[in-house]
Amino acid sequence: MLKTLLENGNCFKLVCGAGNEDAAEVEKLVTLYAKAGCRFFDLSAKEEVLEAAKRGLARAGAEDAFLCVSVGIKGDPHISKAQIDTEKCVGCGKCDEICPNNAIKYHKVKQIKCIGCGKCAKVCSKGAITYTSENIDLNIVLPPLIAKGIDCIELHAMGVDKDDIFSKWQTINKLYTGMLSICTSHGKISDETMIKRIKKMLECRTPYTTIVQADGFPMSGGRDDFKTTLQAVATAEIVQNERLPVYLMLSGGTNTKTAELARLCGIRFNGIAVGSYARKIVREQIDRTDFLENKYAFNQALEKAKTLVRSVALK
Ligand code: SF4
Ligand code: SF4
Repeated sequence: MLKTLLENGNCFKLVCGAGNEDAAEVEKLVTLYAKAGCRFFDLSAKEEVLEAAKRGLARAGAEDAFLCVSVGIKGDPHISKAQIDTEKCVGCGKCDEICPNNAIKYHKVKQIKCIGCGKCAKVCSKGAITYTSENIDLNIVLPPLIAKGIDCIELHAMGVDKDDIFSKWQTINKLYTGMLSICTSHGKISDETMIKRIKKMLECRTPYTTIVQADGFPMSGGRDDFKTTLQAVATAEIVQNERLPVYLMLSGGTNTKTAELARLCGIRFNGIAVGSYARKIVREQIDRTDFLENKYAFNQALEKAKTLVRSVALK
């Protein structure tokens, strides 16, 4: 059961990316990290992505693993997609260079690969990059995924539009009776508002059926140092101080240092979700079209993935 995995206190969750709709990449990531020992995966709420993840689990012989689909509200960076205004773009290539997901080629954004991390707009001096996101209808998106078999649904609840968050949370609660996850951070709202929001969302939940995923800076991972992971630990501490009947996970800027820093700070976490850093360290290998057949490339990536997964398990 997912509960047991969380109660062990060393659950590693691989975040493939709420906006990562590249099914081929997801299959590679899930195969690799399942082989490395990961048993919890976070996916975009798309049927083809869920199917790809299940193929990855079967390939790795890890059908005992758990799958979570992530949804967000309109405007949430996790489900936003970059677009380039060709009138303003001068073709400098800086966005292409910085994109962690290889989503930009020849000044065009490959939408299925874009995870809305925001890095490209920051380097564009011409203001040519903007972001869009759709207001998805959960009553249409979730039922087919639930029917196919999932173990958790995560709502990104860090936006300022609290009405939309509460309304989507109600819808999810009506549609699904299993484990839910609230991914939240204090980046755009105060600590007090974040806690109030979590408590309100927990009113309709029975104890220990909800994960609170304390997000430092969303999608900020990339470097493997204590500083990068500091905010995730700080957010987790705020949540932990409330002594809520939830499972606590850390995310957003997480890396191999997160578990160590969290333990040093007295955070009794149930797990750590790693996205940007987990994908970055194996990017060179997983971008190969023959990755799943090429034993050398696969094993190279596997060693790096194992080191990361083990960093959470070590106590
Ligand atoms: S950074 Fe801006 S100007 Fe440069 S290629 Fe990208 S969109 Fe065009
Ligand atoms: S840098 Fe981030 S937001 Fe921009 S295209 Fe790449 S993944 Fe999307």
